[in-house]
Amino acid sequence: MTYAVWGWGGPQDAPRTADLEAVGPAVQETTGVPVQRPEVPAGVVELPPSRRLADLPPALRAIASTDAQDRARHGLGRSYRDLVRGMRGQVPFPADLVLRPRTEAEVEAALAWAGEAGAPLVPFGGGTSVVGGVEPVGLDAPVSLDLQALTGLVGVDEVSRAVRLRAGTLGPDAEAALRPYGLTLRFYPQSFERSTVGGWVATRAAGHFSTGATHVDDLVESVRALTPVGVWESRRLPGSGAGPSPDRALLGSEGTLGIVTEAWLRAQPRPVSRWAATLAAPDLPTGAAAVRALVQSGLAPATCRLVDARESALAGTLTTGEAALVLGLESLHAPTEAAGAQALELCRDAGLRVVESGPRGAAGQAWRSTFVRAPYLREQLVLLGVLVETFETAVTWDRLDGLVAAVTGAVTDALRRVCGGGTVTCRLTHAYVDGAAPYFTVLAPARRGSEVAQWDEVKAAGAEAIAAAGGTITHHHAVGRDHRPWYDTQRPDPFALALRAAKQALDPAGVLNPGVLLPA
Ligand SMILES: Cc1cc2nc3c(=O)[nH]c(=O)nc-3n(C[C@H](O)[C@H](O)[C@H](O)COP(=O)(O)OP(=O)(O)OC[C@H]3O[C@@H](n4cnc5c(N)ncnc54)[C@H](O)[C@@H]3O)c2cc1C
Repeated sequence: MTYAVWGWGGPQDAPRTADLEAVGPAVQETTGVPVQRPEVPAGVVELPPSRRLADLPPALRAIASTDAQDRARHGLGRSYRDLVRGMRGQVPFPADLVLRPRTEAEVEAALAWAGEAGAPLVPFGGGTSVVGGVEPVGLDAPVSLDLQALTGLVGVDEVSRAVRLRAGTLGPDAEAALRPYGLTLRFYPQSFERSTVGGWVATRAAGHFSTGATHVDDLVESVRALTPVGVWESRRLPGSGAGPSPDRALLGSEGTLGIVTEAWLRAQPRPVSRWAATLAAPDLPTGAAAVRALVQSGLAPATCRLVDARESALAGTLTTGEAALVLGLESLHAPTEAAGAQALELCRDAGLRVVESGPRGAAGQAWRSTFVRAPYLREQLVLLGVLVETFETAVTWDRLDGLVAAVTGAVTDALRRVCGGGTVTCRLTHAYVDGAAPYFTVLAPARRGSEVAQWDEVKAAGAEAIAAAGGTITHHHAVGRDHRPWYDTQRPDPFALALRAAKQALDPAGVLNPGVLLPA
């Protein structure tokens, strides 16, 4: 069964053909995309034997896996392209073997051996990368370094309210370990269930809260990483002006400079007061103007998601043909009603209509459950022959409306050309004083066997439009291998020189995740 290779859940979550047949008509009706007969995923993936196992020293052999499903799972991430290929048992670049270090000493041993053997080493947290971060494209017998055995809470500083977590700790495990201390990270990327602390740091992940601490960057107090030339550990500090930040250099390094083994993250108590509202906007630009007014007024709602009319209807947030703005305010002490009333007034002034407000509204609840269920729904859609993928960016307010219109236009044209139709929807996931992060979702009829080429063409059209409109190639999905062409033109040339020099200094054998951020 290949579900272990491409699926989001456990074996019990694998979509069943009979269930897919039953939901097919409703999916077609809701998405407007014609569904196909449910695809039956391939059986097990067969692979040639590991080439590198024989070279491994005994200490590493003890933590090595050469199981074909395991190697296949570590050769794919979780993008649409990954799902489609995984379902067919097509894993063009499987790991030659998987190493699962349980201690830093074992990570060090893996680094030393990889350097000597010239074995490409690809760090693997939860494997939820959607940008080719863990797919070892074109590498010679790559080794996957799976960090999930390096897990757990190993320190709590209740005075400073910071916690020390090992890199392989999954989101739910981190929260469970913090609960007895009355603390939480309040960091919930949509991949929370399956992604790790080290993966968040390595990719500069963003949680679902729209303002304030959006990226994990804001939570990081210090990072500990092992590099081929020594330990890179920053001092725990609340802030520092001592030169370029060592933490910043590791944040977003995507496994190319070192292996993150631990991080001290800022935690917080759980909020005591919560207020939520759903508002309707005649269109996305009007809603965006309201969001800008809110964040620029200093209100900073923890949740501030603006969803266009089509996506609101699809998600069940609002089915009136209007864009929906889902707001949530939180407070550690004072009741939030007064701030809520202020937020509603600002939104009304901006031309929005209040649908509901008060403690945790039903529409907000519908939105939250769709958010959590989305990865499971996505695999059902893919099996039903629907091309479904997302991409995201960020841009300053002055260019936001232009970017959204240009990207929507370019992707709609590409979908017409490549798929014969389809839709692209947009929401603003994060809002800043000076700009916002638009997030696009594409739904289209897929041509079986050509999905990867179809998506590559649509994605390129979107990425080109983003670049031309002045956006970033990614707000939080990272660069990986898939975003390299656009990242290469986005970053300043002297910065590329500095990054290359840093890579050369830290990873002289060039074995750490080659092909990510820099050419292999
Ligand atoms: C359904 C879905 C929803 C998602 N939602 C979000 C979201 O809301 N916000 C968001 O930011 N992202 C999201 N993502 C993308 C992805 O979950 C993030 O990039 C996440 O941070 C990856 O964590 P991971 O542990 O799975 O890392 P992996 O996917 O295993 O690795 C990601 C990259 O980091 C490197 N890496 C991993 N661990 C380490 C380490 N310890 N040391 C050094 N390098 C390492 C890998 O080599 C790779 O380049 C989503 C993905 C999916 C499939």
